[in-house]
Amino acid sequence: EFAKSKSIAEQRQYLPIYSVRDELLQVIRENQVVVVVGETGSGKTTQLTQYLHEDGYTINGVVGCTQPRRVAAMSVAKRVSEEMETELGDKVGYAIRFEDVTGPSTIIKYMTDGVLLRETLKDADLDKYRVIVMDEAHERSLSTDVLFGILKKVVAQRRDFKLIVTSATLNAQKFSNFFGSVPIFQIPGRTFPVNILYSKTPCEDYVEAAVKQAMTIHITSPPGDILIFMTGQDEIEAACYALAERIEQLISSTRKGVPKLLILPIYSQLPADLQAKIFQKAEDGARKCIVATNIAETSLTVDGIFYVIDTGYGKMKVYNPKMGMDALQVFPVSRAAADQRAGRAGRTGPGTCYRLYTESAYLNEMLPAPVPEIQRTNLGNVVLLLKSLKIENLLDFDFMDPPPQENILNSMYQLWVLGALNNVGGLTDIGWKMVEFPLDPPLAKMLLMGEQLQCIDEVLTIVSMLSVPSVFFRPKDRVEESDAAREKFFVPESDHLTLLNVYQQWKANQYRGDWCNDHFLHVKGLRKAREVRSQLLDILRTLKIPLTSCGYDWDVVRKAICSAYFHNAARLKGVGEYVNCRNGMPCHLHPSSALYGLGYTPEYVVYHELILTTKEYMQCVTAVEPQWLAELGPMFFSVKESDTTLLEHKKRQKEEKTAMEEEME
Ligand code: ADP
Ligand code: MG
Repeated sequence: EFAKSKSIAEQRQYLPIYSVRDELLQVIRENQVVVVVGETGSGKTTQLTQYLHEDGYTINGVVGCTQPRRVAAMSVAKRVSEEMETELGDKVGYAIRFEDVTGPSTIIKYMTDGVLLRETLKDADLDKYRVIVMDEAHERSLSTDVLFGILKKVVAQRRDFKLIVTSATLNAQKFSNFFGSVPIFQIPGRTFPVNILYSKTPCEDYVEAAVKQAMTIHITSPPGDILIFMTGQDEIEAACYALAERIEQLISSTRKGVPKLLILPIYSQLPADLQAKIFQKAEDGARKCIVATNIAETSLTVDGIFYVIDTGYGKMKVYNPKMGMDALQVFPVSRAAADQRAGRAGRTGPGTCYRLYTESAYLNEMLPAPVPEIQRTNLGNVVLLLKSLKIENLLDFDFMDPPPQENILNSMYQLWVLGALNNVGGLTDIGWKMVEFPLDPPLAKMLLMGEQLQCIDEVLTIVSMLSVPSVFFRPKDRVEESDAAREKFFVPESDHLTLLNVYQQWKANQYRGDWCNDHFLHVKGLRKAREVRSQLLDILRTLKIPLTSCGYDWDVVRKAICSAYFHNAARLKGVGEYVNCRNGMPCHLHPSSALYGLGYTPEYVVYHELILTTKEYMQCVTAVEPQWLAELGPMFFSVKESDTTLLEHKKRQKEEKTAMEEEME
């Protein structure tokens, strides 16, 4: 209602932050660092940057605002450019990995924290920025946590630089302490009570339970939109599909009219135009039902939600030192996150939150707050980055919460195996080059191996395809047709080469959109891959690495692929079943793999990542020759006697190697 009847200027003045605008600007004028705390929806993300602009901070510099999530950076930049009546990319822009929508006149720049972190590589003092707003700091994303340490130095070095850290209520004191007891500015809240209802018993199938609950609300409860929290794309799609189906059934089984339900998914991989739909007003008499990941917890605020359905779960990337890798896993959310979720129902009026878990689970099983990402994920990129910033001993870096030493050492070990670190922990030539690419270390390694093996053209395409969401389109009502279309692209020994094949055929068909539709491929995904490719190509050019091609001798390409994934090498154990060479972890071929069910079962494979669902599935698999693992592997690195950590790893590795050789015989 509000959005329809009020002008944008009026909407801005209605936000809680507006009532404290002048005091807030005063505090910022008087302090170099300020922590700003406010409820979700109070206007921190959209207003603060504009206030800073209005107060003159953009006269000689840019106001930057970091977001842990790409979707938030894009969506908020769009909103603010509308509020300022300017084209997106002009005065207001955004930058996320592989996508820079800013220009020479950009004065307010939203970006992911990862993008700003990379900018510190080129300009350690961040001279172009007058102010950085570190938004959503309570999320404690990996990059935000590293930025904390880096920005603390910038603050000390540049008197003219301002830093504003915004946070939901959690952690504010801790942030203030980290910067030397800086002021905490509180934005007064305006929230309504939320009635919280728990499940009586733990629920077996929360997707089904959520769909049922949403239908009940829709049929029996007064107007007000619904927001459902799920863990990821698959579940969200399943829930949306089920909801649509139930509505259909209802329409055909009752004679009375059924009220309209507008079903809107949102997750990070959803195309931007579909994401934007969650902000649209439903037509009169219709109810909106948004099905979201934890992206809607604090990053995006949608008005008009009266009902929240919380499954109590979320996906988190977790580094498992035993497995030696990150895995996206489903975990119960923390109590703080559950409370944030519930709060979404009380923004426009008193609301209700249905928790699909028991009160006892909330009180006894959930952690009070989430574990910061830096303490639970692979630090490969962070290690590379800090090393290139000449921070020799990572344990000395000013971390707010230092990562476990085990994590740092494991990440260093992995970089050493990839040839990015030398035996004393310094960056090698390859390591220095790897830092230049906004890619995970294994993919950067694959590219550089492509240079050595003279197949960089092919590897570049594979890396680009791996950097975008899956291009295979698989509509639920045309599964067989789309699977058959996908199989036509299969290169039997490799999913990576299958991706290469798809791209090359698309290219041979003049990058046409209708060709994609005919072959069940997402044209947007392919176009994105093409864009990524051209950006990576630019970096290769600046490094003076020539574009070489191996033509159709794709064995060489497989060799380059192999060199990136020593940590993900697996050996055949049974039909479709492998075990990781390093740690014996079982891993399975996914039915969607080119290697699956073709009667072709190579002894050794490498895979891009492991997906944990009902089983441990290898995602994107390539058959490799065992001698490549031995030949390209790190076994021939010499180790200095003095370096005990690496020596220990080396020893372990020798044993593994012997074990592997015995296996091979
Ligand atoms: P905070 O950062 O404090 O959580 P925001 O600045 O994100 O708050 O949001 C302030 C208001 O702007 C909210 O009421 C929200 O609904 C509105 N808003 C934010 N982004 C958009 C958008 N893309 N479209 C429409 N409204 C938006
Ligand atoms: Mg915000």
